[in-house]
This record gives sequence, C-alpha cells and structure tokens, in this order.
Amino acid sequence: MFMAKENKPKILLRKLLLDIDKAFPSMIPVSLLWTSYIIPVQIGTFKIMKFNNFLDKSQWWPRSKLEEYQINKFKLLLKHAYNNVPYYAEMLRKYNLRPEDFNCIGDLKKLPILTKEDVINNFDKLISRNINKKHFKISATSGSTGKPLQFYYDKRFDFMEYAFKQRFLNWQKANRHERRIKLWSRPFIEKEVKDIYLYEPLLGRLSLSTVPHNRESLDEYLKIIQRFKPARISGNPSFLYLLACYMQEKNIDNVKFRCFSSLFENLYPYQRNLIEKQFNCEIFNRYACEERVVSAFECSRHEGMHIQSEKIILEIIGEPGESLVLGKEGRIVSTSLHNYVMPFIRYETGDVGSISEKACSCGRGLPLLSHLNGRSNEVLRYKDKYIYSATLSFIMWEFSNIKECQFVQKDGEKIIINIVKRKDYSENDTFRLIKRLKDITGDNINFEINFVENILRSQMGKFSFVVSEMKTSK
Ligand SMILES: [Zn+2]
Repeated sequence: MFMAKENKPKILLRKLLLDIDKAFPSMIPVSLLWTSYIIPVQIGTFKIMKFNNFLDKSQWWPRSKLEEYQINKFKLLLKHAYNNVPYYAEMLRKYNLRPEDFNCIGDLKKLPILTKEDVINNFDKLISRNINKKHFKISATSGSTGKPLQFYYDKRFDFMEYAFKQRFLNWQKANRHERRIKLWSRPFIEKEVKDIYLYEPLLGRLSLSTVPHNRESLDEYLKIIQRFKPARISGNPSFLYLLACYMQEKNIDNVKFRCFSSLFENLYPYQRNLIEKQFNCEIFNRYACEERVVSAFECSRHEGMHIQSEKIILEIIGEPGESLVLGKEGRIVSTSLHNYVMPFIRYETGDVGSISEKACSCGRGLPLLSHLNGRSNEVLRYKDKYIYSATLSFIMWEFSNIKECQFVQKDGEKIIINIVKRKDYSENDTFRLIKRLKDITGDNINFEINFVENILRSQMGKFSFVVSEMKTSK
C-alpha cells in the first residue's frame, strides 16, 4: 500500500505530461536548453566544436591516412597502458614487447585477445593508476548475453561519444531538438516503470517499453507514436517489426516518421523491408555494444555500416594463425582508442562479421562493415558446416506466410524452428521451407518445426532469431 502511494505522483506526472500536453510542445524549449547548453557546458563547448570539425573532415580522408591516425592514437594509448595499467604492463613484459614495437595495424596481432572473462577476472588490474578516481564514471552491461560486466570511463570519453553521435545525426539529416522515440526496456526495468511509455522532457525523449506485452497493447503503442509525431525512432528492430506486422494485418497506414535507427539487435532484411514499407521511413542501421568498444553507422547510401575509425580499431580474426583478407568473415575484436581509464585492447566482442573490400559510393574513407552476422552464439554449427543467421534470414524473406520464427539448436542432432504462422500458412509452406533449408545447408540436417503463438523475448526485450546452445570451440 505504502509503495503504491509513493509511486502515484510519478505516474500522475507522466500521465499529466502525456494527456494535457497532447502535442508535447514543452519538449522543444527544454530539450533545446539541455542539448544546446547544459550538456555542452558540462563537457566543454569549445572542445566539442573543435572535435566535431575534425570529424567532419576526417571522414573523407583516404583509408591510409585514417590508419596512420589510428596507429598514432594506438601507440599513445599503449604507452599510457604500459606505464599506468598493471594488466598491460605485465602482459607486455611477458611477451617482451614495448610500445615502440607497434608501427602498423598488423602489429596489433602481437597482442593476445582480451575476453570478457579476462576483464571480469582482472578488473582492478585493468584500471589506470594515474587518473583520479573522482573523475571516473561507471557503466555496466545488462548481462543479456551472459554475465554482466562493469567498466569505467571518464568525461572525456563521454564527449567523444557525443561527437560521434552528432556526426551520425548529420548523416541522417537529423538534429537533437527533433521529437524522438526510443524503443527499449532498460529504463523500465531499472526504474520499475509499469507503463508502456516514459516521457523525459529534460532529454526531449519519449521511451516506449519493449518488455513483453500482450497483443492488445500494440494498438496503444501505435496511438502514442501517432500522437507524439516523432521525426525519428531508434531501438529494437524486432519490436518495430511486430508493430509493422500489426499495421499490415489491420490495414493501418497513418503512422509515419522520417527515419529509424536500428539498435541492440541484428537488423534482418525481412524486418527492414516491412518497416520501411509500413512506416514510410528511411532506416539507418547502427552497430554498437554495451562495452562501447565498437561503433559503426550506416550513411544515406545504405551500402554497409561505416566503421568509426577515429574511435576504434576493428579487426576481423579467424582461427589462431589464420590471417583473414578483406571480405572474409570472422570474429570481431576491437580496440577503443579513447578510453584511458580502463583500456580495452583487442577486446573479443562475441560478434561475427566482415570488412568490405569495396569503398562506399558516398566517398567517405571510413571502411564498411558488411555481413554482420550477429553474435557467435547466433551461428548454428552442424557437423562441419556453419549456418549464419543472415543466410537464414534471407530464406525467411521468401516466406510471407511466416510472421516470425526462431532457429534453436540444443545439440548436434537437430535444429528446432519455432514458427509464428500468418493466417494463410499451409502444409505446403512447411514442405517448401524444409526443402529450401536443405538446399542451402545440406540434406543430412534434421529440422523440427514447432508452431508457437509468439517468440519469447529476453527480460530486456531482445529478440534472438538464432539461438545456439551448443558449446563452440574458439
Ligand atoms: Zn557511405
């Protein structure tokens, strides 16, 4: 009873903001104040402007000049780590290496991979000794893909993130004062909000919860989007895809916004196609991870995601000893060039992808990350064969009678396919699907179809298209 009473004013305030202020006008001046004054002053307006100007120019540099910039930044970071971070000081001594031994990107291979387990087991030793702890900020991953992981950074790192986000907004022809909606679940879980929306006028943002919901609430979501009239939406693509499916079924065509920036999950072609069609929006895919060691954004040409080379060194690696050429798929490891508080050097992201050998037609020198195939636990392994989620998603695109599906592998014997049917689904679809899958994956794979009402999301609202519960060897 007491708790309910205590939460009531907060809920009332949110209702008040949403109901009375139907067009949300108060958001504009407050968010202008916040984004134009409060955040820049806190970070340093001059520094931001200077770095933004730098990023405007460096994106057009040729690849060789970007690599020169990267290796110079890397050497500074490694020198700092060698002198101030016990983990790296010990490691470099063990391998008999010094910061001067690194003169090109290829030299990074001299260092071992840093795994999530290494970070958890060596947490204190990874913290820099020469930075005052009062400047530290702490963040943690949600643990949706395993154990949660904490890490430190500082204001300077925040300011870099702000500048890179600003460049991405420029690519979308967007600005920070536009109405925007974020589809995610983190604030709802952390703040224990029971409503499906959370309006934060200070941030100029309306959040919509992607926590599992009932089907009836989809109508409510669409009404909120329609009333809020966002210029752009960001967040879980699988959730927006569900809304798009609902609109298609109910012949709703009056919910529109200009662009969608996909976050947190892989964006599959079948999702992209329907979202673009139903909301009449332009989609900008984005690759990031909670540890903030990877960063790649799509430009308006949509030919792949530009790796943010001034911020990270992203490498694609194969099995030990195997050197990979451009275009070849492998594990993504990444080095964050600007986190001096807790350096992550050659961090294993758990994702699989490739760097394109082609440059983007926009003319930017930032390389393209292509064929991002999701996390390595989203790759099925049958005998000696690897089946990537992107391959499966292309097949699913051909099956318009399947609303959603999920591939689950528990052992080496069979692959279970959970399917949510559309009303015209028939036996023939099952037959065609199995045949198509076997054409691609080989005859000897055993598929088992399992019809379900819906595909369960994780607590954070994350949808997994492919789930491998088999242990993979590295
Ligand atoms: Zn481009």
